[in-house]
Amino acid sequence: MRTSLLVALLGLAHCFASAQKTIKPYPDELLVTPEKSNFEKTTTHGELLQFLDRLAARSPYLHRIVLGKSHMGKEIPLVILANPKITSAAEAKASGKPVVYVQGNIHAGEVEGKEIIQQLLRSILLGPDAHLLDNQILVFVPMYNTDGNDKMAKGLRPTQENSPLETGERENGQGLDLNRDGIKTEAPETRALMDVILNGWDPQMMVDLHTTNGSWHGYSLTWAPGYLSAGEAGPYHYVNDKVLPSITQNLDRNLGLKLGPFGDFTTREGWPPKRFFTYNHHPRYLINQMGLRNRMSILSEAFAHERFYQRMHSTYAFVHEILSWCNQHAKEVWQINAAADKAAMESVLQGAGKTKKGVRFKMVAQAKPLAPFRSYEFQAFTTANGNTQWNRTGRIVNYDSVPYYADFKDTLAVTLPRGYVIPAAFAAVAQQVKQLGGRVDTLRKATVFVGEEFRVEQYTKAKRAFEGHNMASAEGVYAPREYKAAAGDFLVDLAQPLANLLFYALEPQSDDGLLVWNFYDGFFADKDLTKGPQAFPVFRYFSEKNNLNLQHGKSKKQSKQ
Ligand SMILES: [Zn+2]
Repeated sequence: MRTSLLVALLGLAHCFASAQKTIKPYPDELLVTPEKSNFEKTTTHGELLQFLDRLAARSPYLHRIVLGKSHMGKEIPLVILANPKITSAAEAKASGKPVVYVQGNIHAGEVEGKEIIQQLLRSILLGPDAHLLDNQILVFVPMYNTDGNDKMAKGLRPTQENSPLETGERENGQGLDLNRDGIKTEAPETRALMDVILNGWDPQMMVDLHTTNGSWHGYSLTWAPGYLSAGEAGPYHYVNDKVLPSITQNLDRNLGLKLGPFGDFTTREGWPPKRFFTYNHHPRYLINQMGLRNRMSILSEAFAHERFYQRMHSTYAFVHEILSWCNQHAKEVWQINAAADKAAMESVLQGAGKTKKGVRFKMVAQAKPLAPFRSYEFQAFTTANGNTQWNRTGRIVNYDSVPYYADFKDTLAVTLPRGYVIPAAFAAVAQQVKQLGGRVDTLRKATVFVGEEFRVEQYTKAKRAFEGHNMASAEGVYAPREYKAAAGDFLVDLAQPLANLLFYALEPQSDDGLLVWNFYDGFFADKDLTKGPQAFPVFRYFSEKNNLNLQHGKSKKQSKQ
């Protein structure tokens, strides 16, 4: 017994010794703030800049630029890791390697992403993870919401167990939630993200790092893909059916970490949970918008009720696995997205005027329930007036089969147009299409289009404001007609890679389009719809009438392909 124990111990000691030999210790000035403070503190803006300076001084593979300035004028650092080093999006494209983008701190109270990105940078540039640059280019924004970050206070994240002791604020300096801004792009942070990253570096995969708001499921981290609504199915199925299940399995096997899909339940429906449901499909959320852009994306939500060091650990492990996956499957990721680009354009070229496509969606249960579903157990008590009250216990249980609401089924579909004519007077709409990354042409002479007019019978605005908006919706009927567009009007030919996103943004009945975000309030302000329907100003065309005098360059060429 003793001898074998001794041999085992010696073997173990040998293991540690050889592991230590291969990993060079980091200098202590490369500790991140939580590591230096027994996980009581989180990194400030100034500390992050200092950390990045120190890394840059030690590695030839780091390039740093400024993503943009926040509403309050605070610089948002962006770090590019590549071997060999590159300094521009054009070089990234020419390299043939996909770009993977990881973003931390969009909600500045959810601080794990910001911390673990620094740890990952350290490990890739100076530690054992140099291989993660073999087949991919990594773009990191550790602190997306720089305005919110330094407004440190206690109690801003009541579900986070006072760990760290203080955190930043959820919103940016305008009081906006940066993860509801993807369509209206009112924050300078969002516009910078669109210009520099989404439409510049064009990442094939985006990872957005959050922490949950309080549901007591039993997972250390929950995830979600960009949900499938009017987008292409390829990237969604790859992430949802392949990448995420595989990573979940690996982390359970290798680290004993339990990960699961993102969601909430309510004890109002009794216990065990009747269903677990996710958030919705709207492209105002950046992760969902990536789906409409034919790109892959993953939402990461650390479990708020674990301690800070545990949340950092699970987030680090998860992102590390995603980067490993993309590094190993770089070509596959790229090809699936390229096929989605092609499919989006092809469906317009082939299906305009024929195919129907969803513009409003509802959440429905997936075909397969969650089995098992892992959760803290709740116990029933009866109040004096006979009501049932559910109290959480500390016991984690697995349930056999809980329906998972994370599919989206259309409740309204409209005929896919070839494109839209935006009258010159609606330049703000055309500008927003460009801001999202769409191509907009200007008509050089009057042109007749054949398509459908949307006749608005009802225009409603929400009584309660959300993100500073009384959100709007329109009901009405579609009527076939010819439409004479004038020289100077804007034309959005949907036969372009962002077809699905532009369709979603421009359709008047879309549940997260420009109409919802009040882009047409001015138009409807003086219209009395009780006297009769009103033609919606943006015309949806199926074709140009005689196909002779279309003067908008590229679109003409593409329509002949
Ligand atoms: Zn969040």
